[in-house]
Amino acid sequence: MKELDIAPLSQWGFFRLPPRPCVIAGPCSAETREQVLQTAAGLKAFGINVFRAGIWKPRTHPGSFEGIGVPGLKWLQEVRRDYGMKVCTEVASARHVFECIKYGVDMVWIGARTTANPFLVQEIAEALRDTDIPVLVKNPVNPDLDLWIGAMERFNREGITKLGAIHRGVSTSEKIKYRNDPLWSMAVDLRARYPQIPIFADPSHMGGRREYLQELSQRAMDLGLEGLMVESHCDPSCALSDAAQQLVPSDLKSLLESLVVRDATSPDEEFRESLSRLREQIDVIDENLVRELSARMKVSERIGTIKREHNVAIIQAGRWEKVLEKVDALAVQYGLDSKFVKSVFEAIHEASVQEQNKL
Ligand code: PEP
Ligand code: MN
Repeated sequence: MKELDIAPLSQWGFFRLPPRPCVIAGPCSAETREQVLQTAAGLKAFGINVFRAGIWKPRTHPGSFEGIGVPGLKWLQEVRRDYGMKVCTEVASARHVFECIKYGVDMVWIGARTTANPFLVQEIAEALRDTDIPVLVKNPVNPDLDLWIGAMERFNREGITKLGAIHRGVSTSEKIKYRNDPLWSMAVDLRARYPQIPIFADPSHMGGRREYLQELSQRAMDLGLEGLMVESHCDPSCALSDAAQQLVPSDLKSLLESLVVRDATSPDEEFRESLSRLREQIDVIDENLVRELSARMKVSERIGTIKREHNVAIIQAGRWEKVLEKVDALAVQYGLDSKFVKSVFEAIHEASVQEQNKL
């Protein structure tokens, strides 16, 4: 695993941390000068200091609004000058980077479709070399943690240390209520591998609809993520892209006020001691669980051996259903969620069958 050299978020000069969340807000797309300035004014009014707006838009279908392009960068300059906000936009090529440098854009992000393309990421990283522009990398559209990390490595190798991640969920063919599958485990795994990388959640592209933004933002806070990037538009009903998921600034204010944000830790000595005692108990239980799993696997191996000796197929109809019925009854008895216990045993069963197949 490569080490990454990451500057702490509090040293970027963009956010105060604490308190969480650090918020980036603004429209999906810059559309008109009035829309950009009006939205920025609405956000600035309740203390948002980092403004986002898409200048070049990666759209699914050609012919839809593909971004206003360079003229929009002048509006972002006005937002900086008139409201003292930092401004950021999405870049998908070296040309975009050069335009951003020319117009004094403070920060850039890499869109989910771009992160999935190492050629483009490399080109963008090289174009940003020797600048002090922070880069936020969205997870790729597919659930590939290494591709996400690899993109961040490319920026780090070009000397960019003000580097963060944006978790925006992944595409799915399954019918779910959200636009993208939140797949929080991907952000949790990134945190486990590189605890120093600040992570923003993007509830807008995850949810796809305004009504889901609160629950998704709350979840991001519960997981201890540092920030939120939220799409906000002064009049979402007229938005040229992502109309259903944008919030008017005052609704974003209410959303942020509704969040319950717990500290990552507490200075209270007694709390720390109880926590560490409970964690010791968990460690012992985990050790026992693994020991029991190993014992079960050994029995399973012996079953495999005798089945082979007697020319009997590995999978026997009815047996697995009986096991599941039994553990389901136990789950009820012990007050555990049946679905959870079933999924654990399915994983155990799959590993046992594989083990027997190996023999
Ligand atoms: C965006 O932030 O406007 C955007 C296009 O998001 P994503 O790359 O996550 O789809
Ligand atoms: Mn959008």
